Amino acid sequence: MYRLAGKVALITGGNSGIGEATALLFAAEGASVVITGRRVAAGKAVAARIRDSGGEAHFVRADHTKPRDCERAVAATLERFGRIDILFNNAGIVTSGTAESVSEENWSRTLALNVTAVWRMSRLVLPQLRAAGGGVIVNNASDWAVVGAPDALPYAASKGAVAQMTRSMALDHAAEGIRVNAVCPGDTWVQRWSEEGYFPDGDPVTREEAMRASEAHIPMRRFAEAEEIARAVLFLASPESSYVTGHLLLVDGGNTAR
Ligand code: NAD
Repeated sequence: MYRLAGKVALITGGNSGIGEATALLFAAEGASVVITGRRVAAGKAVAARIRDSGGEAHFVRADHTKPRDCERAVAATLERFGRIDILFNNAGIVTSGTAESVSEENWSRTLALNVTAVWRMSRLVLPQLRAAGGGVIVNNASDWAVVGAPDALPYAASKGAVAQMTRSMALDHAAEGIRVNAVCPGDTWVQRWSEEGYFPDGDPVTREEAMRASEAHIPMRRFAEAEEIARAVLFLASPESSYVTGHLLLVDGGNTAR
């Protein structure tokens, strides 16, 4: 009945946006969910919402640019639920800039989270997936993993690296029953876009402003809701995609179809 019954899922950056929507959906589909993030109140609130609706959830404070925090997140998941079947490498930041304008600091912190943390968490979780008799990694890339992006060099470079890690890890672990895929969202409204200071190099935007921008360039004339991305992640994490590995699943309203 439930697509993830009996499974344990670890979701990085699960305290808002696409990670939060995925945590809620996975829990509704029967998974025990561990969410991580730096913002304790937000993370605890998501875990409490899941538990209040009858699910199993636990929040672990973790900054995934720190190796010790990554180790702690994996250890806490095992302590709480005894196994890991699914890793959703979701935590990421958006940064802008060209080759000339991007600062050393923004370049380094983008790669530290969007690339290195994906590798680090995968390395820590792979033995657990093997121990569980097989498992799934889903990486959150972007439509900008497959096409160039103006004024977003560090972000596009980082997501291109996620795409190649996805394909390469899929090959390395296919024979072990471990599938590795990526979801590639296009513009997806998340509440934090409207928060002061969220974009390191830009102003916050309202939902209406974001929709106007998406209407102008997306074939489907709207941005995605986080739940629409979560449903694609569920497909990649569930047995419904049992013969899918090394795939980049574009969920972008047609943005990269032209
Ligand atoms: P979001 O800001 O709501 O989610 C990002 C999550 O990562 C948050 O929970 C945040 O707390 C967490 N995070 C940030 N830095 C962290 C760190 N150092 N350690 C641990 N956690 C950290 O935004 P979102 O759009 O839901 O982003 C989720 C993923 O989706 C990102 O990888 C992003 O690149 C990707 N994505 C988003 C869009 C979009 O339009 N929203 C499009 C393509 C890809």
